[in-house]
Amino acid sequence: MKNRAKKPILKKRKYLKYGFVIMEHEDCVCPRCGDILNAGPDYQPRYCSRCGQRITFTGVQWTEDKQTGFAEGRDFYEPVKN
Ligand SMILES: [Zn+2]
Repeated sequence: MKNRAKKPILKKRKYLKYGFVIMEHEDCVCPRCGDILNAGPDYQPRYCSRCGQRITFTGVQWTEDKQTGFAEGRDFYEPVKN
Protein backbone atom coordinates (compact mmCIF):
# COMPACT_ATOMS: atom_id res chain seq x y z
CA MET A 1 0.00 0.00 0.00
CA LYS A 2 1.29 3.38 -0.95
CA ASN A 3 1.74 5.91 1.78
CA ARG A 4 0.08 8.76 -0.02
CA ALA A 5 -0.67 11.99 1.73
CA LYS A 6 -4.33 12.82 2.05
CA LYS A 7 -6.04 16.09 2.68
CA PRO A 8 -7.70 16.54 6.04
CA ILE A 9 -11.47 16.80 6.29
CA LEU A 10 -12.70 20.16 7.50
CA LYS A 11 -15.47 19.99 10.05
CA LYS A 12 -17.30 22.93 11.52
CA ARG A 13 -17.93 22.90 15.22
CA LYS A 14 -19.64 25.38 17.49
CA TYR A 15 -18.47 26.25 20.96
CA LEU A 16 -19.34 28.76 23.62
CA LYS A 17 -16.92 31.53 24.54
CA TYR A 18 -17.24 33.46 27.78
CA GLY A 19 -20.31 31.34 28.45
CA PHE A 20 -22.55 33.23 26.05
CA VAL A 21 -20.81 33.99 22.74
CA ILE A 22 -21.44 31.30 20.11
CA MET A 23 -18.27 30.74 18.10
CA GLU A 24 -17.71 28.62 15.03
CA HIS A 25 -14.44 26.77 14.64
CA GLU A 26 -13.22 24.62 11.80
CA ASP A 27 -11.44 21.45 12.83
CA CYS A 28 -9.08 19.51 10.60
CA VAL A 29 -10.00 15.86 10.88
CA CYS A 30 -7.95 12.87 9.79
CA PRO A 31 -9.55 11.38 6.64
CA ARG A 32 -8.68 7.88 7.82
CA CYS A 33 -9.55 7.59 11.49
CA GLY A 34 -11.55 10.77 12.09
CA ASP A 35 -9.30 12.02 14.83
CA ILE A 36 -9.08 15.79 15.22
CA LEU A 37 -5.71 17.05 14.03
CA ASN A 38 -4.43 19.85 16.14
CA ALA A 39 -3.59 21.92 13.07
CA GLY A 40 -3.67 25.59 12.28
CA PRO A 41 -1.96 28.25 10.21
CA ASP A 42 1.14 27.97 12.40
CA TYR A 43 1.26 24.22 12.84
CA GLN A 44 0.55 21.45 10.40
CA PRO A 45 1.46 17.92 11.49
CA ARG A 46 2.75 15.71 8.69
CA TYR A 47 1.16 12.61 10.11
CA CYS A 48 -1.92 11.81 12.12
CA SER A 49 -0.73 11.16 15.65
CA ARG A 50 -3.34 8.45 16.08
CA CYS A 51 -3.23 6.29 12.97
CA GLY A 52 -0.13 7.54 11.19
CA GLN A 53 -1.94 8.62 8.03
CA ARG A 54 0.18 11.04 6.06
CA ILE A 55 -1.54 14.38 5.79
CA THR A 56 -1.06 17.20 3.32
CA PHE A 57 -2.31 20.68 4.05
CA THR A 58 -1.64 21.97 0.56
CA GLY A 59 -4.61 24.01 -0.57
CA VAL A 60 -6.24 24.07 2.84
CA GLN A 61 -7.73 27.47 3.58
CA TRP A 62 -7.50 28.41 7.18
CA THR A 63 -10.50 30.17 8.59
CA GLU A 64 -10.44 32.14 11.77
CA ASP A 65 -12.92 31.40 14.51
CA LYS A 66 -16.06 33.28 13.76
CA GLN A 67 -18.66 34.73 16.05
CA THR A 68 -22.09 33.54 15.01
CA GLY A 69 -24.30 34.95 17.74
CA PHE A 70 -25.14 35.01 21.38
CA ALA A 71 -26.65 32.32 23.52
CA GLU A 72 -29.84 33.69 24.98
CA GLY A 73 -33.52 33.06 25.42
CA ARG A 74 -34.67 29.61 26.36
CA ASP A 75 -31.25 28.47 27.50
CA PHE A 76 -30.91 31.15 30.10
CA TYR A 77 -33.19 32.36 32.82
CA GLU A 78 -33.39 35.79 34.31
CA PRO A 79 -32.37 35.93 37.92
CA VAL A 80 -35.34 36.05 40.24
CA LYS A 81 -35.86 39.51 41.65
CA ASN A 82 -37.32 39.91 45.12
ZN1 LIG B 1 -5.74 9.28 11.73
